[in-house]
Amino acid sequence: MNSLRRLDIKFLRGIGPKRAELLDKNLGIKTYYDLLYHFPTSYIDRRTVYRIRDFAGDDMPSLQVRGQFVGFNIVGEGAKMRMVGLFSDGSGTMEVVWFHRVRWVEQNYHRGVEYVLFGKPSQFNGRWSMVHPEVDSPAILTKMGGFRGVYPLTEQLRNRGFTSRSFANAATEILSGCQGMAETLPLEVINRYKLIGLREAISAIHSPESPEQLRQARLRLKFEELFYLQLDIQRYARRRSGAIRGFLFPRIGHFFNTFYTQFLPFPLTGAQKRVIKEIRADMATGRQMNRLLQGDVGSGKTLVALLCMLIALDNETQACLMAPTEILATQHFETISKMVAPMGINVRLLTGSTRKKEREEIHRQLLDGSLHILIGTHAVIEDNVKFKNLGFIVIDEQHRFGVAQRARLWTKNIIAPHVLVMTATPIPRTLAMTVYGDLDVSVIDELPPGRKPVQTLLRYEESRFATYQGIGRQLRKGRQVYIVYPLIKENEKLDLKSLEEGYENICETFRDYKVAFVHGQMKPQEKEYQMGLFASHQAHILVATTVIEVGVNVPNATTMLIENAERFGLSQLHQLRGRVGRGGEQSYCILMSKRKISGDTRKRLELMTSTTDGFAIAEADMQMRGPGDIEGTMQSGMPISLHIANLATDGQIVQLARDAACEILDNDPELQDPNHSILRSQLDLLTTRIHDWSRIS
Ligand code: ADP
Ligand code: MG
Repeated sequence: MNSLRRLDIKFLRGIGPKRAELLDKNLGIKTYYDLLYHFPTSYIDRRTVYRIRDFAGDDMPSLQVRGQFVGFNIVGEGAKMRMVGLFSDGSGTMEVVWFHRVRWVEQNYHRGVEYVLFGKPSQFNGRWSMVHPEVDSPAILTKMGGFRGVYPLTEQLRNRGFTSRSFANAATEILSGCQGMAETLPLEVINRYKLIGLREAISAIHSPESPEQLRQARLRLKFEELFYLQLDIQRYARRRSGAIRGFLFPRIGHFFNTFYTQFLPFPLTGAQKRVIKEIRADMATGRQMNRLLQGDVGSGKTLVALLCMLIALDNETQACLMAPTEILATQHFETISKMVAPMGINVRLLTGSTRKKEREEIHRQLLDGSLHILIGTHAVIEDNVKFKNLGFIVIDEQHRFGVAQRARLWTKNIIAPHVLVMTATPIPRTLAMTVYGDLDVSVIDELPPGRKPVQTLLRYEESRFATYQGIGRQLRKGRQVYIVYPLIKENEKLDLKSLEEGYENICETFRDYKVAFVHGQMKPQEKEYQMGLFASHQAHILVATTVIEVGVNVPNATTMLIENAERFGLSQLHQLRGRVGRGGEQSYCILMSKRKISGDTRKRLELMTSTTDGFAIAEADMQMRGPGDIEGTMQSGMPISLHIANLATDGQIVQLARDAACEILDNDPELQDPNHSILRSQLDLLTTRIHDWSRIS
């Protein structure tokens, strides 16, 4: 295998230096290995021959027809010269066009001879045509058997005569020249998971003989990618958790018990109880906990965090909760200090706007240990904030905090504090296993009882008036309303304009009410001020961009109108919608969209109206847009890039690959068994990750 990585593609028969340069420039293919791993993206059943009469629609797949040329015509001159052949299969005729190599075509293809053409038909002025098809003799139909790969190609390559077949042929050429293609998976794994060998898989992925063989080939190659990915992640996670000592919290004591028996505001949901148990188990191992807590908006993560902080207090350490904005930090501070007030726990708030005198007092109390729970923003990670003994850190709404910032928090101690990262952005399981593969994951998958699901409605421009009337009714009942506009980077100026116009329009329409206004380009203080107006009910309407996505809790806000909803992704819509439905009142989310939208967009919006299940929405989002879009976490989170496996659709294989990797590491954590030498060398070859031990997620 290694030699294939070194062999320059220009030495391959039929390629040569010129074509090699083109391949490199267009597809980055430099070596035999690169070419073998340039896989088809789809397959054509070579046993099916289409009839021209049956062509229909404006997006025909690549296909083959069988027939004869009934005439050739050279059209145009000079650079515009092209060859147009008229091709008939008895059922109908189509044009076949070559923009290059006109003379060559003239000399090599003939009238009255039977050909099989392979290409993508398109319709122009009512006539069907095919541009630069592959041309074969009918023998191809029996010779090639089964399936035929369709390879990613660029326009330039196509113009220089490259076809899908060029790739299939080149792959065959390479494979016939190398007898012993070294296996890249250990035999025990191949046998255990009933996989086919590497050589067979590579051969079949290029030229499969049957759907079954193709399935086997893809399974094997996907499994391999995912297996090495999991092996790397798991090895890393195990090394880290073995190496980093954490606090041992054996005790459940006075604080936890008193709160639990006397001050718990409502009974915990089953999911909350289960998650607290998981966290407690982590705290009793003596190793540092790194846990991601996922729970939909409103699922009660704060209460879980508080109970865990009380365990930290029971074990003579301090706790700290960090939130991404001042408003959120203040909200947490108010709820939590109210809940624990009767127990004599000292809770303080530290943010950018904490006055100097108070700040100094907080610093002092943190050092002498009389401050038990610190709640705050980034301010808590400043260097001069030092704890006597910090045992537990909660980070709310994780995706707003950079990795480096989190790392700074836990270097505040000699013993690493336990870390609980809370997020309301649901991450599909297979993705979590990969992106957060080295964090443990807990899930709150149950909402507190008595919640009324938010009613979501899809509306078009023409019903704007009726929509405003509905909003007016909510306002008259004393409820508050969010109105959200998209603000997307590429389009900043335009969006800002529509946002400002929207704001003026809303002020006009709802003259009797006060309207607050926030967007991402405002100064933080101004933003906080405007948000504050809404949170304290001095403003009735909040016109905003997606800056309100995370965390704001205004239970009296019962309606959200999302403008240009067609421009938002599913997960984003879900996050936004989570701002309403936080009180006992029936809440509404209105998605306002253009009437003319694509089928996919309509599907997305309709899904929003039919479910409030964040995990279902995250799954669907991933299916529709691919995993790459989710938070952009993929790029930074993945040590090995995937070529054939797809985290969105190959969930089952992810699970198998993870099982396989764990089993091997259970028996041989450092991969020292001679039978595992192949694993070590493959990992070295594949991984680009720089193992940074100070990373916490
Ligand atoms: P999130 O998970 O979005 O951070 P919160 O922790 O803010 O959710 O909780 C949302 C609301 O649900 C809060 O008002 C909280 O008091 C309430 N809540 C939390 N747990 C329960 C429970 N077990 N039963 C009833 N209400 C609960
Ligand atoms: Mg929260």
